[in-house]
Amino acid sequence: MAGRGGRHGGDAGERREEPGWQSLAEVGRDLWTAGLVTSHGGNVSLRRPRGGALITVTGAMLGRLEEGERFVPVNHGGQPDGVRGRVPSSDTKIHLAIYAANAEVGAVIHAHPVHAIALSFEWDVIQPRNLEGQVFLGRVPVITAEWEESAEPVATALKESPIVVVRGHGSYARGTDAWDALRVTSALEEAAYIISLMQRR
Ligand SMILES: [Zn+2]
Repeated sequence: MAGRGGRHGGDAGERREEPGWQSLAEVGRDLWTAGLVTSHGGNVSLRRPRGGALITVTGAMLGRLEEGERFVPVNHGGQPDGVRGRVPSSDTKIHLAIYAANAEVGAVIHAHPVHAIALSFEWDVIQPRNLEGQVFLGRVPVITAEWEESAEPVATALKESPIVVVRGHGSYARGTDAWDALRVTSALEEAAYIISLMQRR
């Protein structure tokens, strides 16, 4: 939008360079609307064709990614690339490890799906009972990892599965694009919700 570009002159240049930002903004809004993240939780990224990633800034509100300077391009090492004054998500190392380990991955979503997190305290694998979960997710691994040391375990788990849950924390999903990663994130929460309902009987 021209008006918005005028108010955020720095963004206009970034957005011309990083055309994928809009799909991230739309997916972020869907994650928030679906209750898959808290107001300031989660993070999303796209692989950049020239290396590195376009990722949300730390503390970004995923439901409001269209407003202002909510993205930062980073290089392979996680350093901001061509943009000053923005701090990339504290999960940047995890996102970059996923891209490095999985050449076909185009987007990564980290969310906090509450039913999946609840199951993760007890289970080592989330086995969907519903058809969609079985078809699209298979067996979802649950891993225990300190946050600072979770990049490699998460990236390794995502070689076999489209989504992994870090126990007591949240999910990391890979996709060919942002919509694909959203698909598996929402499918996981649906499957976990159904399991939770069945356990109440
Ligand atoms: Zn988190």
